[in-house]
Amino acid sequence: LPKSIGFIGLGAMGKPMATNLARSLPPGSHIHAHDTVEAPVDEFCTSFPDIAVKCASARELAEKSEVVLTMLPEGAHVRSVYLDATTGIIAALSSSSPKLLIDCSTIDTATSLHVKEHLLIASPKTSYYDAPVSGGVLGAVNGTVAFFLGCCSSDPNIPHLTRLLQSMGGKVIPCGGPSLGLAAKLSNNYLSGIITIACSEAMDMGMRAGIDARVLASVFAAGTAQNAICDVFNPVPGVCPQAPSSNGYRGGFRVQLMRKDIGLAVDMARRGGSRNALGVSGLGVYAAASEAADCKDLDSRVVYRYLGGREE
Ligand code: NAD
Repeated sequence: LPKSIGFIGLGAMGKPMATNLARSLPPGSHIHAHDTVEAPVDEFCTSFPDIAVKCASARELAEKSEVVLTMLPEGAHVRSVYLDATTGIIAALSSSSPKLLIDCSTIDTATSLHVKEHLLIASPKTSYYDAPVSGGVLGAVNGTVAFFLGCCSSDPNIPHLTRLLQSMGGKVIPCGGPSLGLAAKLSNNYLSGIITIACSEAMDMGMRAGIDARVLASVFAAGTAQNAICDVFNPVPGVCPQAPSSNGYRGGFRVQLMRKDIGLAVDMARRGGSRNALGVSGLGVYAAASEAADCKDLDSRVVYRYLGGREE
């Protein structure tokens, strides 16, 4: 692993990922940390006083780091962190010191390609990868998130990238080329978001017909409808004791993030010419649930509540 790594964006995902990275580094290594909110950076530096170093800007962090990881909310944040001419990573690039830059945020593919192109113009030796993650906050804490890597399987950096990413997670899957890690992630979240709505509706209709929720879930698990949302993240409270739905929809994957990801997936589908019949109505459900007082800020499976599902 490199001796000097930068981590930008120590939010719900980034902080536990940086924590697992810090635990796996050999003595003498450093993690340079930056976030616009100081509290998580200060907490991280207090937890790892020998390893963590606080930086005031993305530029300062990049000047001190061989490898930079970013975990930011949306495309606009990624664009400014990488491309701002004064405070951004691009201002730290020089042709003499090549850098490995890895963006783990879930953003649109066009922004990712734009950022990569501008970084390469500034410094052709720079390597920039999209590597969004799946597995949620719990996966980030447990070090089990999967990385979808935007490169082909013959990329010479793969062994190095895999070693680095596996210090924070499990599977690393090369998806074929630049921005295709993001295309894979958006396709994945589209599928799981739409399944969540279908599962909510199917559970509610069966329960209203008189079937017990647990019996219904066991029917789906044994039949052709079997899927991980019903089995592990069932949106009906009480069916899966460990699921956010059984804990007042607290924890998990915020409904606003699902709205963002379905929106990005619908845009990607439109640009690619995919018919995407369920996307627009699915996006409408997540957009409305994101605004609803009894749903917003809760786990995305709260769409069951938004759709009028029974909660015993
Ligand atoms: P978050 O909002 O908790 O964290 C983002 C962090 O980035 C915050 O600490 C914020 O202060 C910081 N930040 C924002 N702009 C910045 C800037 N210009 N410079 C430096 N720091 C800046 O978000 P999160 O839940 O950690 O998600 C991050 C990304 O990971 C998103 O794209 C999200 O879709 C994706 N993701 C989230 C989950 C999840 O379960 N939360 C799961 C998989 C993927």
